[in-house]
Amino acid sequence: MASGGGGGGYRNGNHKAQNLRVSSSFKSKLPPSTSNVRRSSSAADAVSGRVRVAVRLRPRNAEELAADADFADCVELQPELKRLKLRKNNWDTDTYEFDEIFTEFASQKRVYEVVAKPVVESVLDGYNGTVMAYGQTGTGKTYTLGQLGDDDTSTRGIMVRSMEDILANISLGTDSVSVSYLQLYMETIQDLLNPANDNISIVEDQKTGDVSLPGATVVEVRDQQSFLELLKLGEAHRYAANTKLNTESSRSHAILMVNIKRSVSGREADASAEFDDSSPLATNFKPPILRKGKLLLVDLAGSERVLKSGSEGHMLEEAKSINLSLSALGKCINALAENSAHVPVRDSKLTRLLKDSFGGTSRTSLVVTVGPSPRHRAETASTILFGQRAMKVENMLKIKEEFDYRSMCKRLEVQVDKLIAENERQQKAFEDEVKKIKLEAQQRVSEAEQNFAEELKDEKIKCQMEYMDSIKKLEEKMLYQQKHPTNGVTDIGESHGGFATEEVSELKKLLQNEIQIRKAAEEEISNLKDQLPGGSSDTIYLQKLLEEETREKKRLEEEVIILRSQLTLEDGQTRSYADRGRNGNSLSGLESLSSLRHLHYKNGNNEDRAAITNLHEQVGLHKIMSLLESEDASVQIHAVKVVANLAAEEANQEKIVEAGGLTSLLMLLRNSEDETIRRIAAGAIANLAMNESNQELIMAHSGISLLAMTAAEAEDPQTLRMVAGAIANLCGNDKLQTRLRSEGGIRALLGMVRCRHPDVLSQVARGIANFAKCESRASAQGIKLGRSLLIEDGALPWIVQNANNEASLIRRHVELALCHLAQHEVNAKDMISGGALWELYRISRDCTREDIKALARQTLASSPTFLSEMRRLHIDV
Ligand code: ADP
Ligand code: MG
Repeated sequence: MASGGGGGGYRNGNHKAQNLRVSSSFKSKLPPSTSNVRRSSSAADAVSGRVRVAVRLRPRNAEELAADADFADCVELQPELKRLKLRKNNWDTDTYEFDEIFTEFASQKRVYEVVAKPVVESVLDGYNGTVMAYGQTGTGKTYTLGQLGDDDTSTRGIMVRSMEDILANISLGTDSVSVSYLQLYMETIQDLLNPANDNISIVEDQKTGDVSLPGATVVEVRDQQSFLELLKLGEAHRYAANTKLNTESSRSHAILMVNIKRSVSGREADASAEFDDSSPLATNFKPPILRKGKLLLVDLAGSERVLKSGSEGHMLEEAKSINLSLSALGKCINALAENSAHVPVRDSKLTRLLKDSFGGTSRTSLVVTVGPSPRHRAETASTILFGQRAMKVENMLKIKEEFDYRSMCKRLEVQVDKLIAENERQQKAFEDEVKKIKLEAQQRVSEAEQNFAEELKDEKIKCQMEYMDSIKKLEEKMLYQQKHPTNGVTDIGESHGGFATEEVSELKKLLQNEIQIRKAAEEEISNLKDQLPGGSSDTIYLQKLLEEETREKKRLEEEVIILRSQLTLEDGQTRSYADRGRNGNSLSGLESLSSLRHLHYKNGNNEDRAAITNLHEQVGLHKIMSLLESEDASVQIHAVKVVANLAAEEANQEKIVEAGGLTSLLMLLRNSEDETIRRIAAGAIANLAMNESNQELIMAHSGISLLAMTAAEAEDPQTLRMVAGAIANLCGNDKLQTRLRSEGGIRALLGMVRCRHPDVLSQVARGIANFAKCESRASAQGIKLGRSLLIEDGALPWIVQNANNEASLIRRHVELALCHLAQHEVNAKDMISGGALWELYRISRDCTREDIKALARQTLASSPTFLSEMRRLHIDV
C-alpha cells in the first residue's frame, strides 16, 4: 500500500503549479459548483470524484516538547510538494503524496477552505458531502472539526465554519437547513440532541439506497448562534453519556448530519427540467427543482488499536465491539481501493452510515491527523496508510435534486385560488352584463310594443275613417243619381257596379295592408321573444295583442263583407216594394231607415233579382247571419241592415229563415241595447212576418212577447212603427188569434198609441183591422166565437175615437175594423154601449170609399141588435 514516490496516490497533476493556491489541487477534479448538471440517475451523467485526503500535523504539545525534545519528529513534511516523509529509522524514510499537507502552522481557516469548503459548496449545490477526520486520539481530530472557537474565533473548526458558509449562502425564505447530532458507540447510535433517543436505527431506502435516521432529532437551523448552542448541547450530552458509560469520547464517533434543502427557480431550474420547454403548459406546470444536499461531518474515534492499550477496563468482546465500526471502515476502504468485488458495507453501523461517503455519490474529504512524536510512529504510519488507501476511493458524484411537487402544489393552489377569484369576478361581471342586456331588451320590447300598439291604433282609426268616407261618398253618389235619374236603370247599375268594384278593391288593399302590418308585428314580436329568455308575462301580453289584432282583422273582414253585400244589394236593386204596395198589408217601413232609404227608391227590374240572388253566393248568407252576433256594434248594425234589406225581398225570406236569421233577429230584439239595431231588427222581423209560415215561427219563438216588450220600452216612433207593423202582420193570421192575444199582442198594439205619430197609429189600426177581419171570417165560417178579443182587451174606445181620424189610412183601417166587429152579433151590445153604432151609421152614410160604405150599411142591416136599437132611436137604416 505505502508507495514510494506516491504511486497511484498522487493524481491531480497540479503539483507543477507550485505557486498556485494549494486548494486548487483539492478542487481540480470537482464538478463546477454552479450546477448545470442535469438531474439524472444514469451513471453516465455522474461526475467522477475521488476521495480527497489531506494530512494535518499537530504541533508538539507541552509533554512532547518536554519529553521528545532530543528526538527528531517521526514525520517530515514537504507541503509545497504535498509530500510527507515518514521516518522509518535513522537512515530511511518513506515518502507519501497527499492532496494536501498541513504543517503544524496551518491555520484553521486554511484547513477549512482547502478541505471542507469545496464540499460545503457541493452540498449547497445538491450533492452529498462528507468531511471526516481520522487519526490517533489526541492528534487534533476534534480540534480540526469541532472546535467552537468561543474564546478565539481564529480557532473555529470545520463544523462552525461550514454552518457559517451554509447560512450565508441560503435564503431562509425558500431553503432550509436542519441538523442532527449523533454519537456511535459500540454499534449503538445515540442522539446527542436528545439523550432519551439512545438507540436510533438506520433506515435504508430500498430504491435509492439513501440512508436516513428517522428516529434522530432534527433541528432546523436559522442562525449561527442557535447552531452553536446545539453543538454545545451535543457536547454536553456526549460528555454525560460517556461518563455514564464509563468511557471516553475518544472511543466514540461523533457525526453531525446537516441537511440542506434548496429550491431552485427560474432560469437556473430550466437546465434541470425534464419538461419540454416549447410547451406553454409546461411553463405553467413546471415544478420547481428541490436540491437536497446532505453534509456529514464525522469526528471518528481514535484510530489507535484498543487492544494495544489494553487498560481501558473493557472485556475483550466489548473492545472488539468498540473498534468494530472503525475496522469495518478500514476494510471497506481497502476493498474500494483495491476495486474488490465485495465491499462489506453492512458489517458495521459506521460503514452503513458512510455508505455514500466512500464508493458512493458523495464528495468526500478526509483529514488525517498525525502527531509529531516518534513514540507513536507505528500509529502514525497506520494512519498514513489509511489515508493513502482512502485516496484511491473513487466516488461518482451525483446531484440530489428532485422536482418539488409539494411546493409546485402550493404554488398551483395559490394560482388556482387567484384564478377562482378572477373567475368569480368575471362571472359576476358577466351576470351583470347579461342583466343589463336583458333589461335593455325588455325595454326595447316594451318600446316596440308601445309603438306597435300606437301604430295599430292609428291604422285602425285610418281604416275606420276611410271606411266612413267611402260610405259617405257612396251615399252621396246614390242621392245624386236619385235626383238625376238621367241614364236609366242599366247605366246606374253599371256605374254602381264600377264604383262598387273600386271600393271593394280599395278595401281589399286596406285589408292587405293591415295583414302585412300585422305580419311584420308578429315577426317582430317573435324576434323579441327569441331574444328574451323567459318572460312569460310578456308573451301573454304579446299574445293578447295578437288576439286583439286578429279580432280587428276579423272585424275589418266583416266590414268588407257587409260593404260588399250592400254594394251588391245596391247593384241588384230591388223590386220588392212595388209588391208591398200591391199587397196593401205589407210594411212600407224600411224606406224610412234613414241610412238605407236611398236603397229602396230605385226602380227594380228583373235583372236585379239575379243580382240579389247572387249576393248569397258571393258573400254567404250564413256569414252575414253570423255577423249579426258580431261583438262590434257597427258590424252588427250593418249586418242587420243587410238582413233587413234582404228580408224585404220575398225571395230571400225563406233562405234567411233557413239560415237562422229569424232567430238571430229575435235575439237582437231581446238582447241588443242599441236602439237602431232593435229598430232595424224589428223592421226585418216585420218583413219576414208577411209570410204565413214565418208568422208561426215568430210565435213559436215567443216573438209576440219580445215585440210586446220592445213596444213597451221603445220611444222612437220608427221603432214603434216597425214593432206595430210586425204585430199587425201577425194579427192577420187566422190560426194565431188566441195565442197572439194571450201573449199580449193586442195590449202591446194599444199601448203603442201613446205615441201619436201617424205612422205608428196607422200600423196599430192595420193590426186591429187584420185581427177583426180574422174574427169575422171565423164567425162567417160558422166557428163559434165569444165576444171579440179586441173588445175583451179594451180596444173599442180607441177604435171609436179614431173612426173618423184625419189621416185617411188610419181612418180606413178603423172603419174596416168596425165593420168586421159589427158582423158578429155577440159584439153588438158592447159596440152600442161604446158608441160604435153611431160611427157605423156615419160610415154607412158618409164614407168616401164606396165599398166600405156599402159594407157598413149591409152590416147594420143584418144585425138584429143594431136594427132594434136604431129603431128605438128612430134612425132610418
Ligand atoms: P483528538 O480529538 O484527535 O483526540 P484533540 O483535538 O482533542 O485530539 O487534540 C488534543 C489536544 O491537542 C487538544 O488540547 C487540542 O487543543 C490540541 N491540538 C490539536 N491539534 C492542534 C493544532 N493544530 N494546534 C493547536 N493545538 C492543537
Ligand atoms: Mg477528539
